Amino acid sequence: MSESTKLGADERFCSSCGGVIKKEAEMCVKCGVRQGSGGGGGGGGRKSKSTALILCLFLCGFHYIYVGKTGMAILFWLTGGGCGIWWIIDLIAILNGSFKDADGKSLV
Ligand SMILES: [Zn+2]
Repeated sequence: MSESTKLGADERFCSSCGGVIKKEAEMCVKCGVRQGSGGGGGGGGRKSKSTALILCLFLCGFHYIYVGKTGMAILFWLTGGGCGIWWIIDLIAILNGSFKDADGKSLV
C-alpha cells in the first residue's frame, strides 16, 4: 500500500513545507510560514467590487460569503441586514470602496 496523504475538506498543503494544515489557518503550524490566498506571489485573489455590489443588491448577505466573511453573513441574515440599515451601509461601503474582504484588502 502506498502511503498517500489524504486531505480533508478543511485541509490544505502548506505553501512552504508542504505539510497538511487547516484551510483557515493563518500560518503553518509546522514551519511557521504565513499562508495567504494571493500572498504567495500569485497576485490574484482580489475580489470584484461589481460582483459584491450585485450580490449585495440581489442576494442580500451573499456579498459577505463572496469576500470570505461567512460569520458576518450569518450575523447579517440573523439581524435581517440590521433591519435594512446595515444593508444600505454595506451598499455605500461597496460603492465608495471602503468594503474590505476577509484579508482586509479593498475590492477592485
Ligand atoms: Zn509549513
